[in-house]
Amino acid sequence: MARPVAVAAGVVIGGRDVVLMAGPCSVESYEQTHAVAAAVAGVGGRVLRGGAFKPRTSPYSFQGLGREGLEILRAVADEFGLLVISEVLGVEHLPLVAEYADILQIGSRNMQHYPLLWAVGELDRPVLLKRGFMSTIDEWLKAADHILSRGNEQIILCERGIRTFETATRNALDVNAIALARQIAPYPVVADPSHATGRADLVLPAARAAVAAGADGLLVEFHPDPAAALSDGEQALPLSALPRFYDEVGRVAQALGRGLG
Ligand code: PEP
Ligand code: MN
Repeated sequence: MARPVAVAAGVVIGGRDVVLMAGPCSVESYEQTHAVAAAVAGVGGRVLRGGAFKPRTSPYSFQGLGREGLEILRAVADEFGLLVISEVLGVEHLPLVAEYADILQIGSRNMQHYPLLWAVGELDRPVLLKRGFMSTIDEWLKAADHILSRGNEQIILCERGIRTFETATRNALDVNAIALARQIAPYPVVADPSHATGRADLVLPAARAAVAAGADGLLVEFHPDPAAALSDGEQALPLSALPRFYDEVGRVAQALGRGLG
């Protein structure tokens, strides 16, 4: 049975309720982040996501706003009473990200970056560990062990889709992994239907499936103007989609005796 992770302000991941963590892929500006946070808080979401240090496939793509992005994220989240999750790209960024984020996100590409796992393992802070897109469930759980081995038990697993032979979608949401990880690992399991599908029109169905499979939370990308997003615009939902998203996913959670918070 999963060990719930109490983040802050009464937000518990792995408890009765499914927790919505929503926000832009990248923090791009104060206005953009503010608009998303207002919408997330408006439907009852509790956690704002946003990358300030971005792991981009090309070095010529937008790399994130760095410290300025974290400042924006924190200020906006505080205004709306939201918590913050943001990615730590390298050990050298950890002190800075830890100053601003309530949950430290380890990205898919860094799942086996052991010095980074050890470094977050030394902290007293929730860590969301994304599954590597080419990693087995066993490798994912052993990566979590690396964090645990340094003393930090506040681990949240995140299934974000794996690479398969299929090219119609960016990745494939491994629903099996959600259900299995919840059975065999002592950690809550969250799903990221945005990176798992790579297509805005598939994010809601994938989110419903993830919650039906037992996900304890969802990490989802929203943007005020997806067509203008500096990263992952194809998979971002517009803010107008948030109420329906919340309602439909909430109904699946309810069918399982859970709420969506
Ligand atoms: C993200 O959450 O924006 C991200 C980069 O995710 P992943 O590490 O799963 O690719
Ligand atoms: Mn993204």
